[in-house]
Amino acid sequence: MRVTPSPVSANAPRVLPALDDSTRPFWTSGADGVLRVQYCPSCGRFVLPPRAGCPDCGAGCDYAAVSGAATLFTYTVAHQQFHPSVPTPFIIALVELAEQPELRMVTNIVDCDPEDLVTGMPLTVRFEQHEHNTGTVYVPVFAPAALT
Ligand SMILES: [Zn+2]
Repeated sequence: MRVTPSPVSANAPRVLPALDDSTRPFWTSGADGVLRVQYCPSCGRFVLPPRAGCPDCGAGCDYAAVSGAATLFTYTVAHQQFHPSVPTPFIIALVELAEQPELRMVTNIVDCDPEDLVTGMPLTVRFEQHEHNTGTVYVPVFAPAALT
């Protein structure tokens, strides 16, 4: 079977995000080990995923530090290898941050066997450092809280 060439280079196991002024703080926040999420000062609530303005009132959002604590909302385990440099299985998850009900983000769970995943389990953020054509990005991933 002929394999279609991947647009991802061999040393880039992730498809890295496109950064703009509204998303760059999210993707670079982990440089100091702290996750930062957009916060709307008008609505008094956190906003995910990062975007140009608050989805409710349209106001410009600031970034505010969060604890990095989360719980596993739901997940799926990917067994199909979509790129030679990305080992399988890997875990795609929707996690809910501790700061606000329904403040959820799509991420990966690391350092956890898929058999050990339990919905609602406590998690803690970690960061994967990747070099991007616009600078270094820190991709937030989550691990079981008991390990950190
Ligand atoms: Zn708002």
